[in-house]
Amino acid sequence: MTNLRELLHFYAEAGVDTPLEDAPVDRFSQIEAKRVAASPAQAARPSQPQRPEQPVVASQPAPSILSKASVPDDAKIAMARQTASSATTLEELREQLAAFDGCNLKFTAKNLVFADGNPAAPIMFVGEAPGREEDLEGIPFIGRSGQLLDRMFAAIGFDRTNVYIANTIPWRPPGNRTPTPLETEICRPFFERQIELVNPRLLVALGGPAAKALTNATEGILRLRGNWKAHLTASGIQIPVMPTLHPAYLLRNPAQKRFAWRDLVNVKIRLRALTD
Ligand code: URA
Repeated sequence: MTNLRELLHFYAEAGVDTPLEDAPVDRFSQIEAKRVAASPAQAARPSQPQRPEQPVVASQPAPSILSKASVPDDAKIAMARQTASSATTLEELREQLAAFDGCNLKFTAKNLVFADGNPAAPIMFVGEAPGREEDLEGIPFIGRSGQLLDRMFAAIGFDRTNVYIANTIPWRPPGNRTPTPLETEICRPFFERQIELVNPRLLVALGGPAAKALTNATEGILRLRGNWKAHLTASGIQIPVMPTLHPAYLLRNPAQKRFAWRDLVNVKIRLRALTD
């Protein structure tokens, strides 16, 4: 028993925290079976053409045509752009993202992790992608790195009532793997629109992937951090970005916390200058 527990612990530490079976499971047929079970009248009319892009059961929409492997990557990115740009409020954007089938990460994640905090806040923090706890709750930064992030906010007099928090990728990549460049490009129009709709005075990029996604910088985060960059929105507005160290990195390298603290003090000073 102890050995089994140790083995499971080892797997979890290594990122293997989602049990899979030996044989692949066809989730699409499961969804289809559930849909048919929930709608026997439709199942009894096999001659009726199926329209999978139209949800039959509101709580369990069938995957749209975009989820098919045969849809070209460019079409998924184009559809993401079109969908995201049509959202006029954050709530609309959240709904559209929840209904968007063009990113494969949606099908392995348990929840969409859209945002936390105050959408009217002057500062928006952007991480990379949700982890296990965030996936379970649908809220960004609530695991160990989120707890450290809360302490980082507190160090400069902020909390989740006066900052807004989101990620570049709103679904947990399986086993916390690094999102692929394609996944990032498909999600990009959504987080860029989210930034436009929040319209913060300042952005803080948590870690290298967020800094790269927001500023197109190519240097590593240890070079980038502490230096103001800019994020250009689709409507041409430049928002200052402070790249800093990701709290997960700081948990592994606590001696570097002083650099993150310095960056946040800088953010506070710049915000004061912008709002005074
Ligand atoms: N790490 C991130 O980048 N985002 C989260 O939401 C949690 C951990």
